Amino acid sequence: MTDCLFCRMVAGEIPADVVHQTDRVFAFRDINPQAPTHVLVIPKEHHPTIGELAGSDAALLGEVVGAAQTVARQEGLIGADGAEPGYRLVANTGPQAGQTVHHVHVHVLGGRNLTWPPG
Ligand code: AMP
Ligand code: ZN
Repeated sequence: MTDCLFCRMVAGEIPADVVHQTDRVFAFRDINPQAPTHVLVIPKEHHPTIGELAGSDAALLGEVVGAAQTVARQEGLIGADGAEPGYRLVANTGPQAGQTVHHVHVHVLGGRNLTWPPG
């Protein structure tokens, strides 16, 4: 039994609006969407931050990014050739960046014009 929210979603103990998954990654809609498409992509295995994941299992980090690309294609944000309109990936680390869940997740955002810098 874990108290990690995202581990519990992977285990099916808490509902998730799943849009894509493989044996190692899991993608579901954010409960508080900030854009028409707002999906979180996570490794099924618990890792605290994207930087830690890069150091401990770089291949898994690659699978997370690849799944984000698959989701973006599914959502109509890119064509088969990687064309517009495009999308943004966000990975918050630590309190000043607003990380609230300490299981690494990449936000896939798209479907509207995204301002830069994000603020
Ligand atoms: P972060 O602030 O980068 O740690 O992002 C955590 C994200 O998880 C936020 O965008 C939340 O809206 C989202 N979130 C929290 N609980 C749930 C849930 N039960 N289902 C889907 N998304 C969630
Ligand atoms: Zn976890």
